[in-house]
Amino acid sequence: MSIETLFATLEQAAEKPLESARAWKQAHGTRVVGSFPMHFPGELAHAAGALPVILQENHDPITVGHGMIYPFYCGYTRSVVDQVCKGDYDFLDAIMFGDHCVQVLGAADVVRAKLPGTRVHFYQLISSMSDPWSLGRARETFLNLKEGLEEMIGHTIDDEAIRASIKLFNRNRQLLRELYDLRRSGAAHISAKQMQLAVKSSMVMDKAAHNALLETLIGEIEARAATAPAGVRLYLSGHFCQAPKVGVLDMIESCGAIVVDDDLYHGQRFISTDVEEAGDPLDALAGWYLQRNLKVPCPTRVDQNADWDGYLLDAMKRSNAQGMVVLMAKFCEPHMYYYPLIKKAFEQRNVPHLLIETEHELTALEGLRTRVETFVEVVKRRSSTRRAAA
Ligand code: SF4
Repeated sequence: MSIETLFATLEQAAEKPLESARAWKQAHGTRVVGSFPMHFPGELAHAAGALPVILQENHDPITVGHGMIYPFYCGYTRSVVDQVCKGDYDFLDAIMFGDHCVQVLGAADVVRAKLPGTRVHFYQLISSMSDPWSLGRARETFLNLKEGLEEMIGHTIDDEAIRASIKLFNRNRQLLRELYDLRRSGAAHISAKQMQLAVKSSMVMDKAAHNALLETLIGEIEARAATAPAGVRLYLSGHFCQAPKVGVLDMIESCGAIVVDDDLYHGQRFISTDVEEAGDPLDALAGWYLQRNLKVPCPTRVDQNADWDGYLLDAMKRSNAQGMVVLMAKFCEPHMYYYPLIKKAFEQRNVPHLLIETEHELTALEGLRTRVETFVEVVKRRSSTRRAAA
């Protein structure tokens, strides 16, 4: 299969996630468990024999959902509510999720009210990550989640099944990180859109099938000689629950920039941390939950040991990025609270960054293009001034 065909297959799942999950259910007779982003361990649903699917913002205009949720909620929650009101989630066997912000809880209430015949289970994940009891509380939540899944399938899930799922999911994260390495090093030209398709499709596809596609894709990419792409090296940060619109990613890269790394949820944040494969699997998942917040700090969690702005500055150095574009979903409170710290840290160190606020309703890209083009020019000039001074 060619690289283009492989990405087209990933795109089909990423852009039509519900269609793809419904087709998988019909073909394999598997239950489908929908979850909200960002901290739900799909491994447990997989070990229960179900297909875990992270529910995505879709591209449809919000219509019937308007009356069910505040218009000043983020695009992700408004889109999820709109989808449930339109009956898009009727085929799901369960929706299970952990909370991570007030808006996601508001959306969950509507989902529960609209799907009275579906298991909609909420699992309170501890948000304070560095207390002596954090690990134990996280384990308790995952035990509750396991019991909820066992109730759904009517039998217990044994530890071996969970370990096997952990192994499969780890392999998936490792393959995606290989793609990131290939892009970061310049050994392959993988656009921001393609990288997003690779990660987003992993959130909705069967992991074994996804791994097989990724293995072939990496083999094809390594076999094809690539010249390192030219352009201003940019780092993308932010955008939690929803994937940045592909049009925005393409626009950024059409302004003389190449995206070399990111901390997006539909990116590094999703694949940053593996789960311990030996020992008690619930301990391992609880450890993963705490560890991933140190690997890529999340503003929805409270951790005295995590420092998001410091992480971003280091990550930019590691990826040899020249500037950072912050993509902030409009009305995303956790992001809005933290952004001033990032702005201050970047300005103090004279590292260029640009804030772009995004909306569910894709606004005219041309105004944004002018800002990105100007930013790329600023980054170029600062880089050449630095080089001249060195
Ligand atoms: S974290 Fe941000 S994007 Fe995610 S549901 Fe909350 S407000 Fe929306």
